[in-house]
Amino acid sequence: MPPVPSSEPTAAAAPSRTVWQVALPIPLPRLFDYLPPAGDDGSDPVGCRVRVPFGRNGEKVGVVAAVADADAAPAELKTVAARLDPAPLLHGELLDSLRWLARYTHAPLGEALATALPGPLRHGEPLPDTRRWGWRLSEAGATALAAMRAGRPRELAERLASGPLDEDTLGTIDGARAAARSLEKRGLAERVVLAASRAPGAASAGPTLNAEQQAAVDTVLAARDRFQPLLLDGVTGSGKTEVYLHAIADCLARGRQALVLVPEIGLTPQTLARFRARLGVGVHALHSGLADGERARVWAAAARGQARVVVGTRSAVFLPLPEPGLIVIDEEHDGSFKQLDGIRYHARDFALVRGKALAVPVVLGSATPSLESLRNAQLGRYAHLRLRQRAGAARPPQVRVIDVRKRPLDAGLSPELFAAIGRALDAGGQVLVFKNRRGYAPVLLCHDCGWSAQCPRCSTELHGTPMTVHAGGRRLQCHHCGARQRVPDACPDCGGLSLQPQGAGTERIEDALKARFPDTRVVRIDRGSTQRRDAMERLLAEFGDAPGILVGTQMLAKGHDLAGLTLVAVVGIDEGLFSADFRAPEKLAQLLIQVAGRAGRAQRPGEVLLQTHHPDHPLLATLLGGGYHAFAEAELPLREAAGFPPSTHMAMLRAEARQVEIAEGFLRIARDALRDACDDDTALEISGPLPAPMPRRAGYQRAQLLLTAPDRRRLHAALDAALPTIHAAPESRKVRWSLDVDPIDL
Ligand code: ADP
Ligand code: ZN
Ligand code: ZN
Repeated sequence: MPPVPSSEPTAAAAPSRTVWQVALPIPLPRLFDYLPPAGDDGSDPVGCRVRVPFGRNGEKVGVVAAVADADAAPAELKTVAARLDPAPLLHGELLDSLRWLARYTHAPLGEALATALPGPLRHGEPLPDTRRWGWRLSEAGATALAAMRAGRPRELAERLASGPLDEDTLGTIDGARAAARSLEKRGLAERVVLAASRAPGAASAGPTLNAEQQAAVDTVLAARDRFQPLLLDGVTGSGKTEVYLHAIADCLARGRQALVLVPEIGLTPQTLARFRARLGVGVHALHSGLADGERARVWAAAARGQARVVVGTRSAVFLPLPEPGLIVIDEEHDGSFKQLDGIRYHARDFALVRGKALAVPVVLGSATPSLESLRNAQLGRYAHLRLRQRAGAARPPQVRVIDVRKRPLDAGLSPELFAAIGRALDAGGQVLVFKNRRGYAPVLLCHDCGWSAQCPRCSTELHGTPMTVHAGGRRLQCHHCGARQRVPDACPDCGGLSLQPQGAGTERIEDALKARFPDTRVVRIDRGSTQRRDAMERLLAEFGDAPGILVGTQMLAKGHDLAGLTLVAVVGIDEGLFSADFRAPEKLAQLLIQVAGRAGRAQRPGEVLLQTHHPDHPLLATLLGGGYHAFAEAELPLREAAGFPPSTHMAMLRAEARQVEIAEGFLRIARDALRDACDDDTALEISGPLPAPMPRRAGYQRAQLLLTAPDRRRLHAALDAALPTIHAAPESRKVRWSLDVDPIDL
C-alpha cells in the first residue's frame, strides 16, 4: 500500500482576493474556481460543502478543496451561491485519505468525495440530528395521573412516571406513539432530548479464549497505538469473531471508536445481536438496505463520536472516525469489498490506508485469505496470526469426493448423493445442497436441430450468451442484462417440439429433491428467492433446526450459523476448474472451503461431499490433501511465474460503444498515449484492445485494455502522464469508458 501523503497545501488566510477551488461530482479531472460568497466570515472553507452555479442555469453541490490567490485565476469568475457548512464537514485524516483515493483511482476528487458521503449530505442537506429523543411526564401529567381514565394514554403515563422512554423503545410498544401525542396535546407529557448514550447494558462474558485466540488478542492489543496490519488467518469456526470482540472491548474501554467491515451477506441481525450482547453498547449498522436518511444519521453519529462501534458493509469505510481505535475487516478476501462502478475502490485496501493515517491496528480476518494478503504476511508487512483449530466442541468436517463420470444424474445429482442425503435426514440432521447457479437450467436446447436460447441484446454472431431457464421451465431470463421472455412452445429455428432444459440450477435441484423426499422440507435460498432484504432471515427462521434440506447459491456460503447442518453437498463446480480468469482457482478454493466450513459448526460432526467429473484435478487434490494453505502455497509461485498479481500490478481501461470499432479505436489511442508515457518498455505491459469477457451487453459492444506493471509506482506514473491526453482525445467522448485500478474481474 503506498503511503498516505499529507494534505495538499492550501493558501494561507486572507490574501487580498481569494478564490475557492471546488471539487464537483462530475467526470472531469479538475477543480472549479469560484469567488467566496458575499459576507463570508472568512474562516477556512476547505472541507465545507458549497452550492455553486454550474452550466447554463444549473447548480451543483461540491466541496471546497483549496483556497488560492485570485490573481492567477481568469477574470470572469462566478460566485459561490451558498456555503453549506459553517465548519468543515470533511477534514483532517478523512479528507487527506480521500485525496489519496482520488489520486490512486485516477478519479476526480469531486467524485471521490461524493462517493464518501451518504446521499442527503452529497445533495447538500444539513448534518442530521442524532440526539436521542424521548418522552417524559410533565408536572401536570404527574399530578393528573391518578385521576386519568383507563386506556393507552394512562398506561403510557404510568410507565413514564417511573422515568423517560426513548423513541426507539416507544416505537416497540403498541399504540404508544399515538398515546404520547395525545398526552402531549393535553400538556401531560413532553418530547425531550435524553442523555446522549443509552445506559450501557451489561456486557455478557464470552467463552474463555483458547491459547491461539489469546495470543492473537495479545498481539492486536500490543499494537493498539500504532498502525499495524494483522492477518487473522483462522479456519472457519476457529473463533475469529471472539478475537474481534475482545479487541473491540479494549478499544471501547480506552474511549476509542471501532469500525468493523463485513461482506454484504455477512451483516445479519444475528451478527449485530451478537456484537450488541457481548459489548453492552449501542452498535450502529450501515448497509445498503438502510434508507438514505438513516445512512446520513449513522455518518453524523460517527462524525460526532456518538457511534462507538459501527458494523458496516463496503461504504462504511468512508465513515469519519474522530476517536479511532481499531479497524476490523471480516472475510477480507470477499469480492464484495470491491466497488465495481463509479469510484472503483477496494474497501479493504482503503481501510489499510486509513488505518495508517489514523495510526490504529487493522485486523484482516479470513479462513481463506486473499493471495494478496497472504503474500503481504509472508513478506512480513502484516503480522500473521493463525487459529488452526475450531473453537469449542466443533470438529472439522470430513470431505469426500464423489466421481460422477458415467453415473446417471437427476438434476445433476448422483445416486450416491441422494443416498447420503437420505442417511443424513434419517439421522435427524440438516442438509445443504450448494450449487452456484440460480434458476431452473442454464441453457434451453433444441434436441432436433441444436438451436439454443440466446439473449438477443447480449450476444454477437461469434459469441452467444445463453438465457437461463426460470419459473420451473416457463420463462427465459438473461442474467447479464435482465431481459426476460416466455419459453417458446416450439423451436424458433426448426419448429420442433423437443426443447430441453440443459444442466441444473437451484430451482431444478429443488424440484428434484422435493420429488425424491416428498415428506421433507426443502427450502431454496438464492437471489431469486430472497429479493427483499429480510427474506433470507425469514426463510432461515422457518427452516429452524428440524431435519430438512436447504438448496442455495453463494448466499449460503457464509454468515449464518446453521448449527444443525451435518451434510454439505457441493455440486457443479467443474466449470470453475477451467476458467480463463487467473483468479478463478483462488475463488473456487475459497468458495469450497467456505461452503465446507458450514458443516459441523456445532456438536455434531459434519460431512462434505464434493461431486465432480474431475476427481483427480490438481486443485481439488491439493485442496483436499493440504487445505487452503497448501493451495495458496502452490498457487502463489504460479501467479508470479505468469506475471499476475500479487507480484505485479494491474489496471484495466474499459470502453463500450454501439460499434465495436469505436470502442477499440478509443482504446488504441489510449494505448498509444500510455506507450508514449513510458520511458522504457519494461515499465508497462499493455494487452489489447481485446473484447471484454462479455463482449456485448445490453446492446453495447465492449472492449478492454489491460495494463500490467512489475512496479506500482511506474503504473501510476504512466497513467498520470497519459490520462490528460486520453481525456482530451475527441474519441473519448464517443464511448463510455472507465479506468479500474487493481481490477478483480478481468
Ligand atoms: P469464526 O468467526 O472464526 O467463524 P466464531 O467466533 O463465530 O468463529 O466462533 C465459532 C463458534 O465457536 C461460536 O459459536 C463461538 O461462540 C464459539 N467459540 C469461539 N471461541 C470459543 C472458545 N474459546 N471456547 C468455546 N467456544 C468458542
Ligand atoms: Zn430446433
Ligand atoms: Zn442480456
